Order: sequence, then structure tokens, then C-alpha cells
Amino acid sequence: MAQGDICPKCGYYMYAISEKEDLDGSWIVYECRNERCKYRMKSFESQPADLDFNVVKLDAQN
Ligand SMILES: [Zn+2]
Repeated sequence: MAQGDICPKCGYYMYAISEKEDLDGSWIVYECRNERCKYRMKSFESQPADLDFNVVKLDAQN
């Protein structure tokens, strides 16, 4: 799950209120913490096997 998502409208942090797994990843609904804003957005985080491999390789180089 992504961390530190910032509300595009007011700049507050957003937090995940629901997560639904799909075949290639998961749909996450974020909501703004600002009581006056409450902006919501949906974000898809894919997790294909190729990507995991690349991430591991990058970590090894550091
Ligand atoms: Zn906001």
C-alpha cells in the first residue's frame, strides 16, 4: 500500500479507507484527513511478478 499520499485539493495527508484486491493488483480508496475537504480518490496498485523482480534488483544495487 502506498504511503504518504497527499490530497491534491488541500495538501493534507490521505489515508486508505478501503482496499479491494483484483487479479493484477488492488484498488485502494483514499480519503483526505481534512474534515473540511474529505476528498476521495481511487488508486490502482498493480503487482505483477516482473515488477517485484525489478524492485529486488534495484535494492541489491543500493
Ligand atoms: Zn483534502
